[in-house]
Amino acid sequence: MTQVWQGECVEVDVLFSKAGIATQILLTDRMNKNLLLMDCGDGTVRDLMDRNISFLDLKGVLISHGHPDHMGGLFSLLAALRLFRYKGDFTVYAPSRCPEVYSIIQFFLKLYQKGMSFTLHYHELKDQVFESLGEFIIKPFNVLHYESTKTSNKVKKSAFGYRVTLRGEVIVFSGDSLQCSELEKEVEGVDLALLEATYDDSFTEEIPNHLHHKYADYLGRSAKNYFLIHRF
Ligand SMILES: [Zn+2]
Repeated sequence: MTQVWQGECVEVDVLFSKAGIATQILLTDRMNKNLLLMDCGDGTVRDLMDRNISFLDLKGVLISHGHPDHMGGLFSLLAALRLFRYKGDFTVYAPSRCPEVYSIIQFFLKLYQKGMSFTLHYHELKDQVFESLGEFIIKPFNVLHYESTKTSNKVKKSAFGYRVTLRGEVIVFSGDSLQCSELEKEVEGVDLALLEATYDDSFTEEIPNHLHHKYADYLGRSAKNYFLIHRF
């Protein structure tokens, strides 16, 4: 299913999104073609190539949390930038205390730092602390999400949703989250909300970790436009 939204300033293309597999979303600044990814699950490189996206216009990626379906394509993405002789600065943003992302960055640099055509930046974000990339203004906000293994699923994971503003247009991405007031507050009134809706309404789990479709749909109605993504 194609999920593309065109605002005045920003175009949003959900390249792929399926819970447990991968989610990757592309934001395009329509004025200067700067590109920003939100999450980069497995297949991100394939999805960008399928759409004839120029890798040279990518400026960075915002990673919501360290579960593999949200960052499993990071190593391949960095390798593709190297292969295509990307020039300039590329920034990977992740929540602080995200060992999955940090270890991939370290591993990549250990293997390939010599002779790289571009500068790779790794930037750990803090709750509610703004960053900017090109004209994209980025605000990370804490959401409620847990580790996914049976032994550790009571441990809260460091996970963000993102609010991205471009010349007054506002996009919010939930990442993975349980129902929480932070998310509700951020979604209200925005131009486009991208909301995970992993669970069908009848689905129950011992320790819930995602939004149900019905609630995500309810939440989406508080935004001007919304897509339900990351379905199971
Ligand atoms: Zn997750």
